[in-house]
Amino acid sequence: MVFSIDFTGKNYIVTGGNRGIGLAITRSIVSAGGNVAILYRSSASAPQVAEGLEKDFPGVKVKAYQCDVTDQKRVGEVFRIVGEEFVGGIVHGVVANAGVAIVRDALEIGQEEFDCMYPSACRDLSYHADLVLLSSSHVQDERTGCILHSASSGENMDRKGVQARQVFYNSSKAAVSSMSKALAAEWAPHGIRVNIVSPGYVATEQSGVHPKDVREFQSASVPLGRYSEPAEQTPQVLLLLSEVSSYQTGSEVFVDGGYLIW
Ligand code: NDP
Repeated sequence: MVFSIDFTGKNYIVTGGNRGIGLAITRSIVSAGGNVAILYRSSASAPQVAEGLEKDFPGVKVKAYQCDVTDQKRVGEVFRIVGEEFVGGIVHGVVANAGVAIVRDALEIGQEEFDCMYPSACRDLSYHADLVLLSSSHVQDERTGCILHSASSGENMDRKGVQARQVFYNSSKAAVSSMSKALAAEWAPHGIRVNIVSPGYVATEQSGVHPKDVREFQSASVPLGRYSEPAEQTPQVLLLLSEVSSYQTGSEVFVDGGYLIW
């Protein structure tokens, strides 16, 4: 089977699409011809990032929308605005990538941080955003919607051993993974595919919080011996978003340098 990935004329929402892995995903979709609405939390540079991508890739539309994904009301509003004003009612896929990692002893994590991390991982980010997509007229008519969630190799405590100091982060990602698979089953009859990409260690601001010795230890625990660059996460994302993967749903793809095989 010979195939190519061409998103010309298609529209995607990428949460956290302004930096880190999300920006690499945005860039890859745009380079394949797709339009992207980026949802960001607070980075003042996000609108310029979007403008820069439009300049780099003439003919595509990229726009940044401030939207804290833990704010359910705002998520609903922004999805409506994106649908009506940016893409004219048609959203072909959502990449629920935004996430927050807090690496600390469980008892040191306060309620406010928990409320930021856990809901952004699994409640509003995944569930509410998906519902809006599901109800969009295009998905109802075309039955080709696609949702991609970002979990983490680290959630696989049963396969890799329990990781201290990431209690809530890893459990929230395990919840995302489990929920995505259940949604894939529920929404398959609607023609909506739901898949998960689970990165290992990726060189972004999020992983930059680890001290150097911890990062060295982490690299040594990966068969490929290093962190991933954000762009190395994107081929699987493009494949899963594309109709090339029309028979793939409910799957979790690990892009982790072999982390789980050791
Ligand atoms: P970064 O910290 O580099 O970027 C996080 C992005 O998410 C930013 O764009 C940020 O927006 C956005 N964001 C965070 N919280 C919210 C919110 N409440 N509402 C809207 N946007 C929000 O993260 P990474 O690129 O490293 O990670 C991307 C995803 O991959 C996350 O889900 C992460 O958990 C997962 N992951 C990352 C790994 C890694 O090693 N880096 C490993 C495994 C999984 P803003 O710029 O406005 O703050």
